[in-house]
Amino acid sequence: MTRYFDPHIHMYSRTTDDYERMSVAGIEVIVQPSFWLGSPRTSVGTFVDYWEHLITFESKRAEEFGIHHYACISVNPKESIERPLALDALDVMMRKQLLKRERVVALGEIGYNIINDLEEELFVKQLDICKRENLLAMIHLPHNNKLEGMKRMQKIFETGHYDFNKILIDHNTEETIKMTLEIGAWAGLSVYPVTKLSPDRVIRIVNQHGSDRIMVNSAADWGVSNPLSVPLTASEMRKNLCKTDDIEKVTFFNAFNFYKQSEKFTWKP
Ligand SMILES: [Zn+2]
Repeated sequence: MTRYFDPHIHMYSRTTDDYERMSVAGIEVIVQPSFWLGSPRTSVGTFVDYWEHLITFESKRAEEFGIHHYACISVNPKESIERPLALDALDVMMRKQLLKRERVVALGEIGYNIINDLEEELFVKQLDICKRENLLAMIHLPHNNKLEGMKRMQKIFETGHYDFNKILIDHNTEETIKMTLEIGAWAGLSVYPVTKLSPDRVIRIVNQHGSDRIMVNSAADWGVSNPLSVPLTASEMRKNLCKTDDIEKVTFFNAFNFYKQSEKFTWKP
């Protein structure tokens, strides 16, 4: 049977019906990174409740449909610019040892949203936590000015010894994929209606750059998005006569091989 892994989906903003459809479509494992609440947060407590929700409630909700759910915990880029709230939230995240909790497989998403120094401060702090504690990092490229985000990120990488085998850079496009693969990180491709990639663009990227270290995700969230993007991409790849090996790598095994580096990722196919 064909099985799928969606390594980036924000189920917090999706319905239980989505879980049902995902299960029927063959999605067996998902990773849910920390995201924007949808409206501005007014206190640190809302971060704590949100993280707790991802770790406990979502894992249980997914399990009811035979889907294994893992979480990434962070102060995400979009919420990194509010001071002192963002720094206080990071402080609480560490004090409560949320990264050590069951099913928390990485720190993420972190990175840039509008690209400024406030975002970068939180990004670097969290990247350093990963380095210090030997954790997987899930990095989000900005939706606009991806190349600028990538270049700022490379400058940060030059300043320290990062283990790129433990870093996943997501939301790549034709513009950034070569750089991501060249630095030795894992690369996410988000198949998302209108604003991100289509399955056709993924096929062209895989044809050009190969399938090593590349993983497709839905990045489904509050926007018009498709929680079935991973099986949809696999289907389009099959129609386009892509190699079975490439299809399996980008829709399952590369994500599996990245996340299984976490001792908390205990699920096996
Ligand atoms: Zn996301």
